[in-house]
Amino acid sequence: MPETLYHFVNGARTAGASGQFGDVFDPATGEVTKRVPMASASDMAAAIAAAEAAFPAWAAQTPLRRARVMFRFKDLLERHVEELIDLVVSEHGKVREDARGSITRGIEVVEFACGIPHLLKGEFSENVGTSIDSWSMRQPLGVCGAIAPFNFPVMVPLWTIPVALACGNTFVMKPSEKVPSAMLRIAELAKEAGVPDGVLNVVNGGREAVDALLSDPRVASISFVGSEPVARYVYTTGTAHGKRVQALAGAKNHMVVMPDADLDLAVDGLMGAAYGSAGERCMAVSVAVAVGGAGDALIDRLVPRVQGLKVGPGMDPASEMGPLVTREHRDKVSAYVDEGVREGAKLVVDGRGLKLQGYEGGNWLGGCLFDDVTPEMKIYREEIFGPVLSVVRVPDFETALNLTNAHKFGNGAAIFTRDGDAAREFSSRVSAGMVGVNVPIPVPMAFHSFGGWKASLYGDLHVHGPDGVRFFTKLKTVSSRWPTGIRSGAEFNMPVSR
Ligand code: NAD
Repeated sequence: MPETLYHFVNGARTAGASGQFGDVFDPATGEVTKRVPMASASDMAAAIAAAEAAFPAWAAQTPLRRARVMFRFKDLLERHVEELIDLVVSEHGKVREDARGSITRGIEVVEFACGIPHLLKGEFSENVGTSIDSWSMRQPLGVCGAIAPFNFPVMVPLWTIPVALACGNTFVMKPSEKVPSAMLRIAELAKEAGVPDGVLNVVNGGREAVDALLSDPRVASISFVGSEPVARYVYTTGTAHGKRVQALAGAKNHMVVMPDADLDLAVDGLMGAAYGSAGERCMAVSVAVAVGGAGDALIDRLVPRVQGLKVGPGMDPASEMGPLVTREHRDKVSAYVDEGVREGAKLVVDGRGLKLQGYEGGNWLGGCLFDDVTPEMKIYREEIFGPVLSVVRVPDFETALNLTNAHKFGNGAAIFTRDGDAAREFSSRVSAGMVGVNVPIPVPMAFHSFGGWKASLYGDLHVHGPDGVRFFTKLKTVSSRWPTGIRSGAEFNMPVSR
């Protein structure tokens, strides 16, 4: 019998009242392992009420006290990392060491939030007018909502939760219904660390739960990470309800390989960035832009490497790449490969039809490599989110840059070159939020901010780092005079500093 999961509301596991459940699968076997409750609007309303009730006391705690809770939270996450890895692998399918890396990147955001007393320091000006001082401060928003994707069950929730909580907000997280268990465990660890009941709530579900979160007037902000159409919907709906929204969306990350690049480095970079986590990363490289003579050299080196990829269950330490998250998603990615062939791209490595003995029901797809892809093709225009790399050949740097900039997505972009001029020019002119120079997946560390441009992010502020603190706080500026100062009588003109 599959295990039945729950929500986590007001510090306790709750069943919810919807009576609706979704199936959670093991991607390596295709078997249903758990049932997750799918919240109704009233289940979501109950969690929002708990978060609203918990807000005044949590906001009133000193930043130092909240930071100390974060220190304990970080320690508990580190001590339970193996358990979290197992939960991620058993529901997402990625390989264990990759899961470990992503959890570490999440814990680094908790580490960043431990410095919240420093991060919340405002600005102060003495004597903005005679005997008048002025200062600014950052105050929490209230109840913050978030909606997470399937591909990073620990890291993406930890992009926002530590910063939001450390700033004094309370939180309602709706994880992906495909990978719910890790977030439920994180909430329990947060409680053990000293996060008061109601401050961090987890509500499982789908669209009904999301719509309830987006329209509830008690919710001040929404942080979404997921696919582009849903990000656009969340942004327009959330902002129409007066909320502050950051909606991180899809990607089609280009990596430009110049003819002077260190090709071994570039090929290593492409292998990890295109096929790591089976391409189910928003920072995966899905387009290699080969400039001039780099094309033939790249293909020659890539073909044997892609053919030799070790695809297997995430729990097997020998696996380099696991299965795709669901059968439906595997079939969707496979259909893109069919479409690429139909459109005339050259499929030089075909991973379709892969079968693994003992894992016949798993969602397998081997690495796929296309050469001679052109910008009109659907496999170039759309995000595939699987182990499929497209090589586009261009004659020169300008064409490579223009191609990258013309794509609707602008999450990450990279250039591999030994030429400082080309690297500098690329970094300056490329339309993407995160740029790598001889670094294929330029994911900013926790103390910088993460986010894309164009259709890769709807909203104004990126996540974690300085933008995270800005997103989760409201700015207030105070001008203060004490009555003992000079009196000039009623002022009918705009006051100016004298
Ligand atoms: P998804 O959009 O299908 O789902 C994301 C979340 O939205 C889930 O919690 C889901 O339950 C909910 N949802 C799905 N459909 C909905 C609807 N119609 N109305 C309301 N809510 C809905 O995304 P996914 O498949 O879970 O994740 C993969 C996508 O996430 C990829 O496009 C990837 O690029 C993107 N992603 C982006 C970033 C980034 O930083 N830009 C990071 C990770 C993932």
